[in-house]
Amino acid sequence: MNTSVANTYNRKKITFSHGKGIYLFTNDNKKYIDLAAGIAVNLLGHSNKSLIDALQKQSKKLWHVSNLYQIEEQEILARKLTNLSFADKVFFCNSGAEAVECSIKAARRYQFSQGYKEKKNIITFKGSFHGRTLGTIAASNNINHLEGFGLPLEGFINIERNNLDQLLRVIDKNTAAILIEPIQGEGGINVFDRDFLMNVESIARDKKILLLLDEVQCGMGRTGKMFAHELFNIKPDIMALAKGLGGGFPIGACLMTSPVGDAMNPGTHGSTFGGNPLAMAVGNCVTDIVSNPDFLSDISDKANLFHLKLNQIAKKYPNIITGIKGLGLMIGIKCNIENTILANELYKNGVLTVNAGDNVVRILPPLNITIPEINKVTQIIKKSVQNIDKENATKEN
Ligand SMILES: *Cc1c(COP(=O)(O)O)cnc(C)c1O
Repeated sequence: MNTSVANTYNRKKITFSHGKGIYLFTNDNKKYIDLAAGIAVNLLGHSNKSLIDALQKQSKKLWHVSNLYQIEEQEILARKLTNLSFADKVFFCNSGAEAVECSIKAARRYQFSQGYKEKKNIITFKGSFHGRTLGTIAASNNINHLEGFGLPLEGFINIERNNLDQLLRVIDKNTAAILIEPIQGEGGINVFDRDFLMNVESIARDKKILLLLDEVQCGMGRTGKMFAHELFNIKPDIMALAKGLGGGFPIGACLMTSPVGDAMNPGTHGSTFGGNPLAMAVGNCVTDIVSNPDFLSDISDKANLFHLKLNQIAKKYPNIITGIKGLGLMIGIKCNIENTILANELYKNGVLTVNAGDNVVRILPPLNITIPEINKVTQIIKKSVQNIDKENATKEN
């Protein structure tokens, strides 16, 4: 297609005109089940009535005033997020990369404010994805994302997941923080070991190193807990959120304890759009719905069913699926064939998924997907796997 849009994505040749719940529809009214949810963004599906109402209501009052003024909806969302978490302060921005950038800045600034001017280094982990800004590509240290963009921002030390020995070896007097994506999304739904994370937390406390979590993808109810780190029984000092927080409206947030928040005093950071009334109205609505304990426990029940069904398929077709990874409704199908083959077959059968590293097909449905919908879509997944199996059998004969 002759397009004026920058060529940074290999886009599927399909355009959606509208959506409802877990369904997306094309112009010619072809229906897809959306298990990608805009890459873990549409937490409450498409055209959610409550979100539409929240946005419409706010759109008639006030769109934007900037952070030169107090914004009531921002105060309210910040209070909700701090009440729901370890945090005391929230900086609002517009994306995941910005939320991680703010986390990195806040960590360094905190150490600086404590008189530790040498503590600038941040330890990060292989397979992580933290965004596409110059700072966050340096943090992730993925060569494909760094190549051709000059010297990476200094001060990041990238180590193996779950390797405590290596962690202890690289920590020194210059270490400011450890940045972890507790369930790596883009990297292939890699769940960190609980023991490792608990050890990291206590080492960080001992050595006055900050613990930064990137919950841009795994946070906001995705795992059945409001925040994924609750599953590991750890508490960070700083946490980045985005994706699901706006349910489809661009929002990012950096949550901080008060000592860290105090270091981020006037003039240290900013955002023109961050926390604008429209974004905050939607964020408040998403947060109210998702943080409801019944809603969260429902996610766990539905996730158990999803995992059970997928594990049955994996067991029956080990030549196609190696195993099922992930927690809650953050699911990875690790393939024994090329992941694109499974994703394409699912697409042919009307199911949208997202590929990830480690030869994984990601399943990130809206959190309000229903049990009947899970039963229906796992049937389609089973049929798709069967189709591939049959095709492979014919090829072999
Ligand atoms: C998507 C993602 C980001 C980057 O978010 P953007 O909104 O694309 O900048 C950062 N961290 C994680 C874990 C993500 O999944």
